[in-house]
Amino acid sequence: MNETRTELASLGEFGLINRIQKQFSAQNLTSVIGIGDDAAVIDAGADALLVTTDMLLEGPHFDLSYVPLKHLGYKAVAVNVSDIAAMNAKPEQITIGLAISNRFSVEAIDELYSGIKAACDDYGVDLVGGDTTSSAAGLVISITAIGRAPKDKVVLRSTAKANDIICVTGDLGSAYLGLQVLEREKQVFLTNPEMQPDLEKYEYMVGRQLKPSARMDVVHELAEKNIVPTSMIDVSDGLASELFHISRASGVGIKIFEDKVPIDSMAFETAIEFKLDPITCALNGGEDYELLFTIKPSDFEKLKNHPDIHFIGHTHNDANQNVMVTKQETIVPLKAQGWRHF
Ligand code: ADP
Ligand code: MG
Repeated sequence: MNETRTELASLGEFGLINRIQKQFSAQNLTSVIGIGDDAAVIDAGADALLVTTDMLLEGPHFDLSYVPLKHLGYKAVAVNVSDIAAMNAKPEQITIGLAISNRFSVEAIDELYSGIKAACDDYGVDLVGGDTTSSAAGLVISITAIGRAPKDKVVLRSTAKANDIICVTGDLGSAYLGLQVLEREKQVFLTNPEMQPDLEKYEYMVGRQLKPSARMDVVHELAEKNIVPTSMIDVSDGLASELFHISRASGVGIKIFEDKVPIDSMAFETAIEFKLDPITCALNGGEDYELLFTIKPSDFEKLKNHPDIHFIGHTHNDANQNVMVTKQETIVPLKAQGWRHF
């Protein structure tokens, strides 16, 4: 008998998803876009419906010793809304799968749902269902979000053209640095419980980690300005990884400029304090939930004075050349680390 065993680590998360994708093909004409974008696209007449799922697990994704349940609830919704935003669509409904143990009280679950409710109110989303089950180990929260957009406004990862301008919202790396701060304070607390955590200086970054927001504001602004990006993705795994997704899906090369990548000044200082390279935090940190998109050069005029949209580079013809021009003006290949789950 020849039973081979392939380790998950040899495929990685994206390799595994590719492998799953190859085993399925659409059986319904309404399944317009399946696995491979921020959300699936479903034909619903004049509109498209967008569907996405994101799961948060105690342990790999959050540590309840410093993550308040209310924030966790908010974040679980926001990260799903972010994937709907990345399709240039508006979220409308969510369902929630919850696995809990008797370690949690009714009050604790109330706390979790108060955060979920706050996010539902902020994003105008209705909680319409879900499933509840017991968990032997940690808390698991899995959310599915459904969004809607006119068909011709849906934006994919795969439709960037050469010579488009690469844009990113907000700033990058802060959420990752917020996590480093929280982890450090936890260690300090474990060695000396008398010590009170000193988080004030790091408030912005810790906030970005604990309570990220989805950039629906940008989706609305783009619509007001009559701009449909040529491609879009949200930054959940780090800028570099998301740039590679656009490159691969669209068949274009990427050129970005280090000095254009937006990094908050406190985040920059904090990176240095932690002996981390600020640009590495921005490229590979993850969990920023900003929007990364490309626009036609002719749309640049309409966006150039936007205070929260940064133009970090452009696409080009050679899909095998994904590079960054450093502050020293040397050209280095981009490396997508993303998160290694296995
Ligand atoms: P994102 O970071 O935008 O949430 P992911 O990297 O999690 O996207 O997923 C990439 C694509 O793979 C998405 O289209 C997602 O729906 C799909 N996907 C992820 N995990 C699975 C799975 N276990 N089975 C089928 N599709 C999956
Ligand atoms: Mg995404």
